[in-house]
Amino acid sequence: MTTSLPTPKVPSKRREVRPTDQPPEGALTPDAKPILSFTAKRRGKAPAHIADLSQAERRALVKDAGFPAFRADQLSRHYFEHFTADPALMSDIPASMHEAIRSTFMPDLVNEVVAQRADGGLTIKHLWELYDGARVESVLMRYTERTTLCISSQAGCGMACPFCATGQMGLTRNLSTAEIIDQVRMAQRACEDGLLEGGPTRLSNIVFMGMGEPMANYRAVVNALHRLIDPSPEGFGMSARNVTVSTVGLVPAIDKLAAEGLPVTLAVSLHAPDDDLRDDLIPINSRWKVGELLDAARRYFVATGRRVSIEYALIKDMNDQPYRAQLLADELNKRGKGWVHVNPIPLNPTPGSIWTASTRRTQDEFVAILRNNGISTTIRDTRGSDIDGACGQLATAVQEGGRKGSSSDAPAVKPQLAASQQQGTNTQENR
Ligand code: SF4
Repeated sequence: MTTSLPTPKVPSKRREVRPTDQPPEGALTPDAKPILSFTAKRRGKAPAHIADLSQAERRALVKDAGFPAFRADQLSRHYFEHFTADPALMSDIPASMHEAIRSTFMPDLVNEVVAQRADGGLTIKHLWELYDGARVESVLMRYTERTTLCISSQAGCGMACPFCATGQMGLTRNLSTAEIIDQVRMAQRACEDGLLEGGPTRLSNIVFMGMGEPMANYRAVVNALHRLIDPSPEGFGMSARNVTVSTVGLVPAIDKLAAEGLPVTLAVSLHAPDDDLRDDLIPINSRWKVGELLDAARRYFVATGRRVSIEYALIKDMNDQPYRAQLLADELNKRGKGWVHVNPIPLNPTPGSIWTASTRRTQDEFVAILRNNGISTTIRDTRGSDIDGACGQLATAVQEGGRKGSSSDAPAVKPQLAASQQQGTNTQENR
C-alpha cells in the first residue's frame, strides 16, 4: 500500500551525521581510519577436502589414493545427501578407508567454539574455529516458509566499512570452498537433527552475508555456489534462486558472476545513493562509484533474469533523508522498471552511537517515497537482536519469514561475536 507524502525536491535543512563523526566500530585508537585491503594477513591454505572438488576430481583423488573410484560417489553421498563426514557412520565404507577419510578426503575443517540461540530457538548463531585458529560465524534462521543460513566467505574482511568491527580487523584470509561448504553441511545436519525450535526441517536458503566480502574471494565462492546448486551427489542440489550473494560493490566481479550462468540472487549493499556519502560509508566506493555499481547490478539482472536486491540500512540522520529516498528512486528508475527490489533495514537503536536507528516516521516516509516512485520495497525485520544487540553489520538484517513481496533473504547478525572474541573481549548478550 502506498502513502501519499510530499516529496522534497531539495536537500532538507535538518542536521546530517557523517560516517566520519566517530571512529570506525572496533577501532583501537580515536584517530583510526578505515583502510581498504585486498591482501590477506595469512597465507596458509586449508587442508584439501572433497567439497573443494568436482565429482570427476573426487574420483581421481580417491583413485590416486589407491581406492576404487566408486568410493568417491559413496563419500559424496554421505557428505551431500546425509550431511555426514564421520566415517564411523558410513556403513558401506570399509574400515581400511577410515583413516584416509579423516586425513585426506574429509578432514575436520570447521569446529564449533560456541553456539548461541535467539528468537525463541528459531535462530542459532555459531562461532566456528578453522584449522589455523581463524574464527568465522554462521547464523541459521527458521521462518514460516523457509530456513535460511547466513555464511562467511572470509575470515575478517578487507573492505573496512566503518560501521563494522569485522572491517576494522582487516582480512585474515580467504576461506576455501570446503570451509564455506562445511558451514552449510553443519547447518543441514542441525536442521535434520531438529536443533531449531519447531523440530526437524530442511535448509532451503543460503545468503553470503556473514563475515567477508564474497566477491573478494571470487573463485572459492563460485566453486561453493556449484557445490550448493549442483545436483547430488555432486552438490547439495539447492535451488539457485534460493541462494543470495551480497557485495558492497566489486563491479568487475559482478560482471564475472553474471557470466557464470548461475542464476543466484545478487544483493547490493548500497546504503547511500550518492557518492558524497557512500565514499565515507563504504570505502570501496572510492574504487567503483554508485553509478558504476548500479549499472553493473542492472547488467546482472539482464544477464540472469534475477531481480537484484538493494540493501539499504536506514541510519538516523545519515542516509535516511527524503531527498536521498528520491535520489535512490531516480537512480533505480533511470535504469529501468521492475529490475530491482529495495530492502530498507532498520538498525537496532544504539544510544550514543552514530550507527543508530531512524525514527519510525522517517522510515515510513523513506519507504513511501520509494513506493510512490514505483520501486518495489520491503522493510526487513532483524533476527538475532537478542544475541548480539549492538551488532551492526549493516548488510545483515533478515526479512521477516513468509512476508510477501520481498525478493531475497538477507542475514541477520554481524560478525561481532567473532570479532570480539578474536580481540579477547567478552561478547555480551542483550547489549
Ligand atoms: S560490512 Fe561486510 S563488506 Fe563491510 S567490512 Fe563488514 S564484513 Fe566486510
